[in-house]
Amino acid sequence: MAERRTDFQEVEVRLDETTVREQTKRCMNCGLPFCHGAGCPLGNLVPDQNRAVAQGDFRRAYELLSVNSDFPEFTSRICPALCEASCVHQLDEESVMVRQSEKFIIETAFENGWVVPRPPVRDNGKSVAIIGAGPAGLSAAATLRRRGWRVTVYERNREIGGLLRYGIPYFKLDKAIIDRRRRILEAEGIRFVTGIEVGRDIAADYLDRANDAVVVAIGTPVARDLKIPGHEKKGIHLALEFLGGQNRQIGGEIESLPVCAKGRRVLVIGGGDTGSDCVGTAIRQGAKDVIQIEIMPRPPKTRSQSTPWPAWPYQLRTSSSHLEGCERRWNLNSLEFLGGDSVEGVKVQTVGWSLSPEGRPLKFAPVAGTEEVIPCDLVLLAMGFTGVSPDSAIVRELGLGLTPRNGIVSDHSRNLFAVGDCASGASLVVRALASGKSIPL
Ligand SMILES: Cc1cc2nc3c(=O)[nH]c(=O)nc-3n(C[C@H](O)[C@H](O)[C@H](O)COP(=O)(O)OP(=O)(O)OC[C@H]3O[C@@H](n4cnc5c(N)ncnc54)[C@H](O)[C@@H]3O)c2cc1C
Repeated sequence: MAERRTDFQEVEVRLDETTVREQTKRCMNCGLPFCHGAGCPLGNLVPDQNRAVAQGDFRRAYELLSVNSDFPEFTSRICPALCEASCVHQLDEESVMVRQSEKFIIETAFENGWVVPRPPVRDNGKSVAIIGAGPAGLSAAATLRRRGWRVTVYERNREIGGLLRYGIPYFKLDKAIIDRRRRILEAEGIRFVTGIEVGRDIAADYLDRANDAVVVAIGTPVARDLKIPGHEKKGIHLALEFLGGQNRQIGGEIESLPVCAKGRRVLVIGGGDTGSDCVGTAIRQGAKDVIQIEIMPRPPKTRSQSTPWPAWPYQLRTSSSHLEGCERRWNLNSLEFLGGDSVEGVKVQTVGWSLSPEGRPLKFAPVAGTEEVIPCDLVLLAMGFTGVSPDSAIVRELGLGLTPRNGIVSDHSRNLFAVGDCASGASLVVRALASGKSIPL
């Protein structure tokens, strides 16, 4: 633990062969597998690939995994494993370690040289422009290239990967893993044009005219802000400024960190995954202490009745970053940032929640007399994302509509498709990958 708090290497180690085969043998006792239907959005053939692992036929396991999954090296590191939540074993004991088995399969495949470019048998003579090289854009690129399309991916950042590279910390996903996959995608014939912002450096409607189809995979760039009194003080930053800065520094894109937690008292507002990544990063940068607060109530330790198996469970999640040393508090609403020029504390108030009969939080109300100040000199806002702006150049130039929650709507009649977070709202890598594969071209 002490060692990992000081570097950005991946925290999770790979299971050894004996353990992974023991795990996958447990899968064989399952009568009716829900993991690949109700669980995995990609429809991974979990029981079949696990049977191959249990039999020691790792090459076959890799072939089965590759049927539906183009990037198992990403999901096997950072997926919350919806498959495991729907594992039949969850009914009475621990799920099979499907995600770890997937990691064993894909890393064994890379080590043995089984992961090779799979270019199309023939080109179909049509071209597609993909805007955004996050997981959704990469997934669309791999899928359409395999179907014979000439694929060009436009990305505004220097490197590909989207939030895999500029959001998720190195200690969860080393960026060499993305570079390794890029080389394969390029060998398949996919062209990446990076450092180009569509709508600014090149018009989206030009890409539409110049290609037979356009795929928009731009993610949800607008983070939810907290516009309470004192918001203008120094020391208050959006989570992605902090996380992206750290990743860019490790990747050699910048020399010094734009926001650094060293020696500071850090308050993370937002109790989700992004907040947890801020916790782990702040600890590694040498924060004095880290507190993470959340307005929602503390979820139950075990699966709530509101999410019966095989649904994704509403329950408390504790990440490796939380275990590294952070205080977590719930039911706290933030009222005001305090201090002079720079933030010195946040005034918070306890809220009470009314719950549904199944235990889901419905509505909150402040509890009188519970105001307090949490001292801090760095505040990181990790409260989610608000969708795509209606003013976005891409939306305007392509004449695309938005859902009430600001997700981009595809227009199949004009071969314009929106995939990933920009269509669904902020979600998960595995869902972005599934969305990218689903384009009906
Ligand atoms: C901090 C953080 C941690 C997360 N951790 C996890 C996790 O552990 N597990 C998990 O499953 N999910 C996690 N998620 C969610 C996950 O990262 C996203 O759901 C996923 O990356 C969405 O993929 P996407 O391709 O739709 O969008 P993105 O990953 O956001 O990619 C969009 C890409 O489009 C590019 N782009 C945008 N506009 C333009 C333009 N005009 N021109 C050119 N390029 C453009 C962007 O630069 C970006 O590269 C996390 C999210 C955050 C913020």
